[in-house]
This record gives sequence, C-alpha cells and structure tokens, in this order.
Amino acid sequence: MAATIDDLTPQRLGRLRSLLLDWYDEFGDDFPWRSGGDPYAALVAAVCSQQTQISRVLVLYERWIAAFPTLPDAAAATRARVLRVWGRGGYPRRAVALHESARICIERHDGAVPRDEQALLALPGVGPFTAAIVRCYGFGDDAVAIDTNIVRLIGRIVFGDLQPARETPPRAIERAAHRLLRPGTAARWNPALMEYGGRVCTPRPHCVGCVVAGLCAAAPRFRAGERAEPVRAQPAFEGSDRQRRGRLLDTLRDPANARGMPIATLVAELAPEPAEAKLVRALLAALCDDGLAWSDGGRCGLGERDRR
Ligand code: SF4
Repeated sequence: MAATIDDLTPQRLGRLRSLLLDWYDEFGDDFPWRSGGDPYAALVAAVCSQQTQISRVLVLYERWIAAFPTLPDAAAATRARVLRVWGRGGYPRRAVALHESARICIERHDGAVPRDEQALLALPGVGPFTAAIVRCYGFGDDAVAIDTNIVRLIGRIVFGDLQPARETPPRAIERAAHRLLRPGTAARWNPALMEYGGRVCTPRPHCVGCVVAGLCAAAPRFRAGERAEPVRAQPAFEGSDRQRRGRLLDTLRDPANARGMPIATLVAELAPEPAEAKLVRALLAALCDDGLAWSDGGRCGLGERDRR
C-alpha cells in the first residue's frame, strides 16, 4: 500500500483515477453550475457551498440565480435585497461577500469574474476552494479544489489515515491532490472526489462496496475494526448567539421593517428581559460591522441605509 503520494505507481494512479471518474459519471449529481462555461454561476455555487450541506446548496443557488441571473444584476442590487433573497440560508456574511465581489468584478474586472487565481483570491469571501471551483467549472482550468470531503478521501487512500483532518499535514494533502489530478479533467475530478468523500468515504466509511477499496491504504485498518474518531461535535444552535443573530436578521428582514425600525422597538421585541437588552444591542453592532445591518439616529435596518 502507498504511504506517500510518491509510492503510488503510475498504474495504480491511472486505475484510481479511472475508477473514481467512472463512479462519478454513473452516480454523480448533475448540478447546473457544473455544466461549465459560466464563471458567475460557479462563483455563486461555490459561495453557497461554504459550510453548507449539498442538499441545501441547490435551493440557495437557484434562489440567488432566479433573483440575480447575471453578475450585473447582483452588482446593481441593494444590500437589503441581497439579504432578503439569501433569507435563512445561513452564514449571511456570504451574501454580503458575494454582493461585494459582484460589485468589484463590475468595477475592476471589466464586468466579468476574473480567471486569474490571485485576482479571485482578492475578492471578498473567496478562498482557495472557491477560486479553484470558479477556475475549473467556469473556465475549464486544471485547478485543484480541496474541501473536507476531499481531505478525508485522499488522506485515507494515499496515506492510510483513519481521520486525515487530524493525522495528515495540509501540505501533504495538497501535494497529493495536485498529483492525483489528470490534466484536463478538473471539472469532473473535483466533484468526483467531493461526492465520493461525501457519500461513500464518509466519516464512518462504507468500505464494503467501495470501488477503490483495493487501492486504499486505509481499507485494511477499517476492515480490522479500527474506527475514525469524530473531528469535533457541532456546537449547539439552540440558545447560541448564532440563533439570536438569525432572529435579529429575521426581524429586520420583515417587509414591515423595509424602511428600518426604531432600535428601541427591536430591543423590546427581542429582549423581553432587561438583562438581555445589552446583548441585543451588541449583536446589532456586530451585524453592522459585518455589513448586514445599519444603525443611525436611533433607527436600524437591513443591509445598507437607503438615503434616497
Ligand atoms: S476503502 Fe473505505 S476508507 Fe478507503 S476510500 Fe473506500 S470507503 Fe474510504
């Protein structure tokens, strides 16, 4: 079995690529942004995917594209409209970043999503994963995307780890990911790895029936009964500041508050106990810092203040 990427012979490498690409061709999801050639669609999809389960990504993506079919549509929208369209999609700073990115593309990149990796990385909310997705789906470039599913899959197949996020240095995964990619296949290869890691090589992997079990360095360990330790439990949402921020945004998103509302009313609605008023005010200030809300002259509202 391979212990490093260099131990993988060309024959095994070729077999591994073929098996995973064949699996993807048969079982992979046919999401609209994967058909290629639309960098804006790829950017929207990649931002929607951040920290979000794939089952929810399509809904969010379709809502955004229906409201803002083109990059200029997104750039011309108000911040409040963008946040209303994003709705309860979670992590609304992503909507602000996407909106800002659209404006920057219009102003500094001749009205288009840039192809250059460094220009993409300079856009708000765009990290290496999002930049790679835009490049491979949008432009057909050989860009390597690395998400948690891909880290887990590569760490197991190549390095024989049970829980690669804990056991394998990121640079080793990155190097292996570049070596594994066959030039010209990134737009199929990246989603193949993502989906295989998300559906077969899951935290508790389905090794029985796995198409690459014969090439996987971790398979014998799982067969012997070893278990992957969970990376971390998701913090409780109920009662968290994230939940309170969500409620606050819901209140500001209410059409009755489209032109803003008195901060005192907001505090009275969300902080029935006087002791909670300070917390609500602090959360509102944090939302303003993040560009999700405004407050001015004792009033507050969603997005940026409309001064017309
Ligand atoms: S054999 Fe098991 S650990 Fe290896 S790739 Fe397949 S599912 Fe993952």
